[in-house]
Amino acid sequence: MRPQPRRRATAFRRAALVSWLLVTAGCSSGHATTTQPAAVTPRPAAVAPLAQPRTGAAPASTPAPQPQPTPQSFTIAATGDLLIHMPVANRAKIDGQASGKSYDFSPMLARVRGQLSRADLAVCHVETPLSADDTHISGYPVFNTPHELVDAIKATGWESCSTASNHSIDHGETGVRATLDWLDKVGVAHAGTARSAQEAQRVEMHTVNGVRVGLLAYTYGTNGVPVPAAKPWLVNVVNVPKILADAHAARKAGAQFVAVSMHWGQENQTAPTALQRSQAAALLASPDVDLIIGDHVHVVQPIERIGSKYVIYGLGNFLSNQTAACCPAKSQDGIIATATLTAAAGGRWNTTIRYTPTWVEVGPYVVHPVAADLNDPATPAALRSALQVSWSRTVAAVTSLPGHAHDATPDLMPR
Ligand SMILES: [Zn+2]
Repeated sequence: MRPQPRRRATAFRRAALVSWLLVTAGCSSGHATTTQPAAVTPRPAAVAPLAQPRTGAAPASTPAPQPQPTPQSFTIAATGDLLIHMPVANRAKIDGQASGKSYDFSPMLARVRGQLSRADLAVCHVETPLSADDTHISGYPVFNTPHELVDAIKATGWESCSTASNHSIDHGETGVRATLDWLDKVGVAHAGTARSAQEAQRVEMHTVNGVRVGLLAYTYGTNGVPVPAAKPWLVNVVNVPKILADAHAARKAGAQFVAVSMHWGQENQTAPTALQRSQAAALLASPDVDLIIGDHVHVVQPIERIGSKYVIYGLGNFLSNQTAACCPAKSQDGIIATATLTAAAGGRWNTTIRYTPTWVEVGPYVVHPVAADLNDPATPAALRSALQVSWSRTVAAVTSLPGHAHDATPDLMPR
């Protein structure tokens, strides 16, 4: 298979990561710590200069003319559910035999690696709890996922993952703890679940091209498994006033941009529910929330501009075993949604959203970037026709809200 190109933007991302590591040095979780002072960082200046990557070039002997300041800008790429059913785990075991690992999920994600690596900040959704030691691996309905998934997450280019889902506490505190421990081990940050009350209070913060970005994550519920009354901090459950309070706290802790991940909606349904729409409107009405990233329903949902901000209602499945055999055929579809944020007056952000339709090929469980693979002459005919059907479905879903057909555009068109 063709390797995906890695572009110069990686240098920006690396520089951002370095500064983020410096900021969070000594904190194994990768989170901004509670030691940071509250309410000291003002909202950004309207046109603060873009952080420049180190080039190693010697300074010019004569001063160059002063360039116009570039507006501060960054990208966030978000993807949907990593839903590791048993056939997916079994395939990762087979792929692991080739690479000498117990399980290897990275071949499944190799074709989207370039796309995700190009984003300044890439955010995934870990729907299922990871096993501490890979014993008793299981799929639906009570998931226990091989922890090697984190190696693939890291290798594919995600820096952070939301972990709040209806499966977060399938294995109670043990599963929450193992999931976060493994993400910490590979240096991927996380939001939405916690190992202690103190951790739940922390704001997951990233410095991206010099911008402090806070990520928050919530789930509508936990499949009827009660969150232990003594440990309500294990998983963030959707509660709009609480989310708004958390977003405000993130601002006070220095966030200049706040994205909220929502695990919500009606499974297998493209249209957002009335509840999704009202919650989106309530969250985006707050000056403390800049972007909503949705997942859970296993199918792609629309992207809607509300005022000057966006809600991505549902990113679809990114990796799963769901097909027409159990579910709607469109549960093989997903998107990588990439938001480009550019600083505007008053600490606001101008946002544009582009998306990359993806499709899971059952068997190898390869996640295909649909347009890129349609444009590849080496793509076999049978795969090509499946990708064409998926493309049409996904574009129709993203643009399906009346009056919002042009709120997001594909980043690459099939030729
Ligand atoms: Zn879910």
